[in-house]
Amino acid sequence: MGVLVENDSPLAPLTTLRLGGPARRLVTAHTDDEVIAAVREADAAGEPLLVLGGGSNLVIGDAGFPGTVLRIATEGFALDGTALEVAAGETWSEVVHRTVRDHGLAGIEFLAGIPGSAGATPVQNVGAYGQEVAQSITEVVAYDRTADEVVTLSNAECGFSYRHSRFKAEPDRYVVLRVRFRLEDNDGLSTPVRYAETARHLGVEPGARVAVGTAWTAVLLLRSGKGMVLDPADHDTWSAGSFFTNPVLTAAQYESFRTRPGTEDAPAYPAPEGCTKTSAAWLIDRAGFGKGYGGGPATLSTKHTLALTNRGSATAEDLLALAREIRDGVRAAFGVELVNEPVMVGVKL
Ligand SMILES: Cc1cc2nc3c(=O)[nH]c(=O)nc-3n(C[C@H](O)[C@H](O)[C@H](O)COP(=O)(O)OP(=O)(O)OC[C@H]3O[C@@H](n4cnc5c(N)ncnc54)[C@H](O)[C@@H]3O)c2cc1C
Repeated sequence: MGVLVENDSPLAPLTTLRLGGPARRLVTAHTDDEVIAAVREADAAGEPLLVLGGGSNLVIGDAGFPGTVLRIATEGFALDGTALEVAAGETWSEVVHRTVRDHGLAGIEFLAGIPGSAGATPVQNVGAYGQEVAQSITEVVAYDRTADEVVTLSNAECGFSYRHSRFKAEPDRYVVLRVRFRLEDNDGLSTPVRYAETARHLGVEPGARVAVGTAWTAVLLLRSGKGMVLDPADHDTWSAGSFFTNPVLTAAQYESFRTRPGTEDAPAYPAPEGCTKTSAAWLIDRAGFGKGYGGGPATLSTKHTLALTNRGSATAEDLLALAREIRDGVRAAFGVELVNEPVMVGVKL
């Protein structure tokens, strides 16, 4: 097919929020060699580079991107037993569907319906419903821009934690080319159902296993009800998914949080190093920002308090104004600082 180069190309249609200005140069690469050549060219020219997958975790500023946007459109799905290798440009939700529908394998079935590319999944350690890719990724093959070579990073070298990884920590260093997973052949059964809401929906106890296809369908149903499966006709899905991560509080921060009135029933989950994770959706809702909040072109989703959405004509500034109002409101009510999950391009919260 060959590499495709366009100048002054609109980026909004390439993102799920459908906002933001144009790219000075948009390069679409269909092979790993084309990806690497485009990165090398931009780096040699000292040109800013933005790697773009499905645009489902990006807030691009209204001024656009003053450099090269490299759109990864590589293809490849290779399964050998339970070892899966996928190219970065593959659509994640289709990868999940194929492993479940065609092969009856478990390991990523609860990550059904998450938009975007396979190559972006290690970047923020994509997770939902008690599963995250850190549990099944064995290796990530990436182009290391600092060393100018292709490297293979083991799971441990990826530095995965909650919605974080080495790729996010060093954003200008790695371009993910391929991701390798170890899936599970449980005779058609899922991994244990970890999430209480999924267990309730499935009518099983947490820890039980169900048919892998049943788990996949249940997740899609639950996600659709929250506007978390892309539907171009539904503005509640014109979002970047959850806009804020769930705050992880140190013991001292949690103690101080619990002294605030109204926090008695705040969700609390144990997190590493003696920390406590609470719910961003709960904080937002209790700070007075209910579903559908906002009267302008950007509002909270009518189905989920955690998704900031474009009702059709929002600019990045409209969306950010809403995000700042919510962040400041939660800080004033609970003393907790919400942190954005999507990557900001040329803008700050
Ligand atoms: C409706 C909706 C629901 C969502 N639900 C979830 C959810 O349940 N759980 C969850 O974790 N996320 C969720 N998300 C967020 C998003 O789908 C994921 O973060 C996804 O992995 C982003 O993939 P992408 O290809 O769209 O990345 P993009 O938005 O294109 O890029 C995101 C970041 O990754 C970088 N990147 C992309 N590809 C590569 C690559 N090949 N190499 C290096 N860097 C790269 C980009 O430069 C950017 O910094 C949701 C989003 C939406 C819109």
